[in-house]
Amino acid sequence: MTGDLQFSWELSGSGWATCRIADTAGEQKNFVSYCTDALADLLFRVAGLYGDSSVQRVSFDLEPAEVRWRLRRRGADVDIAIYYFPDMSRSWDAPDDEGTLSWSSTQPRHVFGHAVMEAAQAVLSLHGEAGYREKWVQHPFPVTALQDLRRLHQRDDECEQCQGSPDS
Ligand SMILES: [Zn+2]
Repeated sequence: MTGDLQFSWELSGSGWATCRIADTAGEQKNFVSYCTDALADLLFRVAGLYGDSSVQRVSFDLEPAEVRWRLRRRGADVDIAIYYFPDMSRSWDAPDDEGTLSWSSTQPRHVFGHAVMEAAQAVLSLHGEAGYREKWVQHPFPVTALQDLRRLHQRDDECEQCQGSPDS
């Protein structure tokens, strides 16, 4: 199963990002709006997988739909489940199972953490902080959140991909 995870985050227009996650079984692709600080939220929740709490949730606003990621630690793995709710203004406090499970996968934490970290770094490398702010308008690039995730991932995961890269 290792190595089949793909994750990307691309600024697709002013105030919109394309978030894509895929494994060999299928993919989930969403157009996420800047109504929330979506990339920062994701980075903080993924960083949370290195702490004591076993479940992390992050919601993305698709205007008007909500896509909610539930991340659950299970030993060295993370169960990723993505739920879809048609109207975020009504679903923000709804339990997960009132939504539609639209994608799920179990991945080693070191693979998932690395993929999210790399995708965020790619956004920063491509746009820079000023360019990011111009496109995402409401929120600056989450520098601190990315640093936190990188530090935790490199401290707790024995990541072969990171050990091979000079910028780590
Ligand atoms: Zn790594």
